[in-house]
Amino acid sequence: MDRRSFLKNSALGGAAVAASTTLAAPAYAQGKRTLTMVTSWPHGFAVLDDAAVHFADTVTAMTDGALTIDKKAPGELVGALEVFDAVTSGQADMYHSADYYYIGQHPGFAYFTAVPFGGTAQELTNWYNHDGGKELHDELGQIFGLKSFLAGNSGSQSGGWFRKEINSAEDFNGLKFRMPGLGGKALGKLGASVQNIPGGELYQALSSGALDGLEWVGPWADERAGFQEVAKVYYTAGFHEPGSGLALGVNRDLFEELSTAHQTIIEQASLATTNHNLSLTLANNGAALTRLQAQGVQTLQFSDDVWDAFGSASAEVMDEFMDDELFARIRASFEASMAKSSAWISQSDGEYVRQRDRVLGMG
Ligand code: CA
Repeated sequence: MDRRSFLKNSALGGAAVAASTTLAAPAYAQGKRTLTMVTSWPHGFAVLDDAAVHFADTVTAMTDGALTIDKKAPGELVGALEVFDAVTSGQADMYHSADYYYIGQHPGFAYFTAVPFGGTAQELTNWYNHDGGKELHDELGQIFGLKSFLAGNSGSQSGGWFRKEINSAEDFNGLKFRMPGLGGKALGKLGASVQNIPGGELYQALSSGALDGLEWVGPWADERAGFQEVAKVYYTAGFHEPGSGLALGVNRDLFEELSTAHQTIIEQASLATTNHNLSLTLANNGAALTRLQAQGVQTLQFSDDVWDAFGSASAEVMDEFMDDELFARIRASFEASMAKSSAWISQSDGEYVRQRDRVLGMG
């Protein structure tokens, strides 16, 4: 499917919602069960939908066909950002999305995608699997009747697309920019007019001038979305999503009806999807960046002064949520784990990659 077909299909995504609703899936029939999964991604959207497809295919394979997933793109059952409500209400069985879209429901959800100046994909995974992140995700999801998992990771995301260079933090003042999550709130502190528009609607918003700029994912997903056709300034490093997890939210009542084996398969398929998705993205980003540059895209880095402004604004945003006990606990757990992880990673991987690229002339 080409990009314009995505756009045509995804035009249904945000605004229009199918009028009919369906009831939660029936119990096993002849030992088989189909679960409805609503997603925030148009079918075929690079990285994000790839993760949803990989999860669904893995569950079907691991259950030998006893569980199948009926994957719905935005507009097929509900809108892109309505999947959370669809699952908590029982209209759908599970969602595949990014949990930071739901910071309006609880700000702690930000930590299960990415937070400004937060962990890399590896550091997020370390926290999640070994330092309490998974248990906190479960505690948070349970408040809303969800059984929550990480199921995908898009790696470090780019700083975004602009029509002109950003020379100081003041250049964000009045800029109509798309950035979800706590990063978007930080840009709001710098005076940007921040909008959270679903991925399937971004190309149109940028090309029409409704947006001055946007961040989406990274070179491979961004190239597929076609942003290089309508903006030529690309900041490769961003402060807002250093390693973004994708989330699976399962209706908790439904999850508890499943056999222990099927519950375990859903958890393990989520883990497998994270690994597959991160490597898929990183295997493709470098070549995509080279192609974007060949199409006349100017690749830049923000100055230290701009990074400092991002840092101050981000800290201000995070501190505003500290009255929430669970947010404060999630933040403390995440930051303690990140400090522990980075004590080694920054001394090893960071320096190794810098030296390798210097010696071999890469990068
Ligand atoms: Ca993003």
